[in-house]
Amino acid sequence: MAERIMPNRLDRGFQKYQSEFEEKALQVLRSGWYVLGNEVKSFEEEFASYVGTKHCVGLASGLDALWIAFRVLGIGAGDEVIVQGNTYIASVMGITINGATPVFVEPDEYFNIDASKIEGKITDKTKAILVVHLYGQASNMQPIVELCKKYNLKLVEDCAQAHGAEWNGKQVGTFGDIGCFSFYPSKNLGAFGDAGAITTDDDALADAVRVFRNYGSEKRYYNKVVGANSRLDEIQAGLLRVRLKHLDELTLEKKRLCDRYLNEIRNDKVKLPITREGATHIWHQFVIKSDSRDELAEYLEGKGIGTIIHYPIPPHLSEAYGYLELKEGALPITEKYAKSVLSIPLYNGMTKEEQSYVIKAINEF
Ligand SMILES: *Cc1c(COP(=O)(O)O)cnc(C)c1O
Repeated sequence: MAERIMPNRLDRGFQKYQSEFEEKALQVLRSGWYVLGNEVKSFEEEFASYVGTKHCVGLASGLDALWIAFRVLGIGAGDEVIVQGNTYIASVMGITINGATPVFVEPDEYFNIDASKIEGKITDKTKAILVVHLYGQASNMQPIVELCKKYNLKLVEDCAQAHGAEWNGKQVGTFGDIGCFSFYPSKNLGAFGDAGAITTDDDALADAVRVFRNYGSEKRYYNKVVGANSRLDEIQAGLLRVRLKHLDELTLEKKRLCDRYLNEIRNDKVKLPITREGATHIWHQFVIKSDSRDELAEYLEGKGIGTIIHYPIPPHLSEAYGYLELKEGALPITEKYAKSVLSIPLYNGMTKEEQSYVIKAINEF
């Protein structure tokens, strides 16, 4: 290949609907209304309807969606929240920004929380479970929903990587009290800057988030609570509306690319991802495992193929969470994944030739 193949190509996703994006951006620029207007309102209605919840509230980022979710649920200092060990650190920050303590559970072979290991971690301080639908695959929701009922726990879903993924025909973001979404540019439903949202069926929670995102004010200059500035802006909302219209076809394109990887990658040194029965995968990332991961990544780089590790340092071993005093060996499965996972190139607009080149290189490793 003349050109290096990058792990992700956001320009290709833009080019697919370039004229629609450009038209919408200009329309918003010319409208003279840039924050909390009709684009945000329409996007919230359209996304709630897509996901299947009563409400969607647009926010400034996925991290904001997470910490504001726990804030409006009243979870903070002295409380424990159960979360999987192998997640992006933002999931954990959503808990700890509020002063609550994360309690880590090991993942299953689908990279999601191992539901059978949750109950043993529940204490009288446990207030919630945060489920992360990692890499785009819906988690094993049925036992988790049952545990939340049995122990009267709140359920929050981190859907930042899983827009449209389903468990038993129902979309992620509808199972818990609150679903948290990110529209960071690289996500499956990506904006052209930072953006996020929460979904919920609960009128009071939706209102609380709506007030919180705007300095805690319902009516201008009348502040009910100490809130934040976490508004989704009109340009991002408008551009997200354009992408949302095409989301199903974008997801289908990624599924076809991943089916090809699954059918054609053949190498004993490489383990391919698997999808749980009852779950769908929207393929935010195509994550392979290899005991020779670092050599494989280096070899692919030598062939002009970029890869990424999601994620090289699990949150419990990061410097930021040193205060939790969890040492190496605390979460052996999580730690093993951090040493063996590799995300190979995957993006909307990936060409047949690019993919053939990647497959051939991996098979020859
Ligand atoms: C991207 C991501 C977030 C954070 O979203 P931002 O919009 O970047 O703040 C949270 N959780 C997971 C699992 C993510 O992938």
